Amino acid sequence: MTNNKIMRIDLSSFKSEVYEDPKLFGKYLGGTGVATKLLYDMNIKNIDPLSPESPIILAIGPLNGIYPIATKTIAMFKSPLTGNLGESHAGGRLFMSMYDAGLSAIVIAGKSPYPVFIVIKDEEVEFHRAYSIWGQSALATERILHSRAEGVGKRSIIRIGPAGEHKSLMANVSVDTGRHFGRLGLGAVFGSKNLKAVVISGSKRHKTENFAKFNKIYNKIFWDAVKSPAMKKYHNLGTPQNVLPLNKINSLPTRNFSQGFFENAEALSGENMSENYLAQQIACANCPVGCIHLGVLREPFEDNIHYKSFKIPYDYEPIYAMGTNLSISTPEALLKLLYIVERAGWGVMETGVTLSWATEAFERGIIGVKETDGLVLNFGDFETYEKVLYNMWNMKNEFYGDLNNGSAFCAEKYGGKEFAINFGKNGSPGYITGRDAFLGFLMGVRHSHLDSAGYSLDEKIIKGEMSEDPSAEVDLLIKEEEWRFILNSLTICLFARKIYTEDLVLEALDSVGIHRKSEQLKNLSRRIHALKYKIKIDNGFDLDKLEFPEKLYRVQTGRGKMDKGVVRKMISDYTSKIREIIREAEDE
Ligand code: SF4
Repeated sequence: MTNNKIMRIDLSSFKSEVYEDPKLFGKYLGGTGVATKLLYDMNIKNIDPLSPESPIILAIGPLNGIYPIATKTIAMFKSPLTGNLGESHAGGRLFMSMYDAGLSAIVIAGKSPYPVFIVIKDEEVEFHRAYSIWGQSALATERILHSRAEGVGKRSIIRIGPAGEHKSLMANVSVDTGRHFGRLGLGAVFGSKNLKAVVISGSKRHKTENFAKFNKIYNKIFWDAVKSPAMKKYHNLGTPQNVLPLNKINSLPTRNFSQGFFENAEALSGENMSENYLAQQIACANCPVGCIHLGVLREPFEDNIHYKSFKIPYDYEPIYAMGTNLSISTPEALLKLLYIVERAGWGVMETGVTLSWATEAFERGIIGVKETDGLVLNFGDFETYEKVLYNMWNMKNEFYGDLNNGSAFCAEKYGGKEFAINFGKNGSPGYITGRDAFLGFLMGVRHSHLDSAGYSLDEKIIKGEMSEDPSAEVDLLIKEEEWRFILNSLTICLFARKIYTEDLVLEALDSVGIHRKSEQLKNLSRRIHALKYKIKIDNGFDLDKLEFPEKLYRVQTGRGKMDKGVVRKMISDYTSKIREIIREAEDE
């Protein structure tokens, strides 16, 4: 189990310390629970997200490194994109490296006077000048640090690309291969600290208590993961398995959420990508599923005889963001765009939503060739999008610099808020299933599809498995999000949420010496919910000003057109319930 150790690193003084906080971990378990409490106690209210005081928190949970598919690391920070709670989750080897280093959380603050990368080996921290890798792409940085063999044991390398260095508000942090802290601008926070990369490794060996019990639980999770049809699908096609089913129910965002049906969905489907473009499948450490799919892109050298090839991760969300929603119709074009985004180190969803806003803004005459420096934006025009991305990378003019700040910023400055498809200033995930998806994006603490998966409620209603009931839908969204706070405190990959039932979670916790009852988990998830919302509200998130982007009321979702009156009432019910959750927590 994790050992309650927190490492604090100060980039201003190049000092670090490690201390234990059993009370914190005892109360909040780990992962999102611990990170939320740490961020709350730091009182970030008056802190500029890109100032030296702004913290970066990484946290793992008590099942990491022990049971399969407990593979995530939680990053918590003040989001430069939204100005309030920043939270992003990533897989890869990071959790394993922290576990092997004996660290349950890492807090980084301060600002280095020059570019640095940090190497953490167990409890030791080295600060290295990063001049030679500053300016390198996120992919090249990983290769360079890997070849320099920094660290011991199973290393994890997390780093930013040029987008983070430029403090693009939608910059991500790449984690190992094909995983990212993709949302809410963590890359800009790294960049603001002159922090190019962190390499983490550890040499601890772990002893298993009560081997028979551990073995029973391990085998159950392992075989459930390997045999379940849902997980098999993740293995075979990965998340792009969702492209065709969503298209079939009119729920695949197309041309800036103008419709839910993309005429070329077959070409971008998991089936086609797998059959014709898949180069390799990989897995996060300690996961038998291996859902990460890397596509291959071949490009000729100038002689047109020899080729170079690149591997590019593709998942459902990147396919939606840089594919269907921009009307990109071929896998080659999609992979080329994804390759640029991956190298620059932008969060792919916010990038796609911003480009789709820009295209519609151009079509409507809100922006023109003056802003784009002569480029004409049209949905489906891959060559122009390629140029736009490089202009953004190079911050060619004021407009391209602005695009780096995401769709909400651009819509505020240039206009077109009604078709800037973001929720709480975070670019929309790829679902146009209906009101529950959108309500989940709006009210979820991260404004992510992974907060409460409202799209799956919509899908049930579309399929006739559940009937419409606005009040019950709100309750189900809150219930789902609160259970996920527990899974995220244990940092379990949410793809395994059906395997990690409440009974299994209690049993697994018990096996590592954490004895909890169902009621205690419920109380904890409420407390976490309240804390997260308090952070959001303290930092300017206004519960009285919540609304869907106006365009969404005009489009046919998978469930048909939304009734604005009903949606408004649902938003109002939801906010009342959030206020009640906060009040209850304050009364405790
Ligand atoms: S299912 Fe996929 S994302 Fe989840 S842990 Fe396994 S490889 Fe990683």
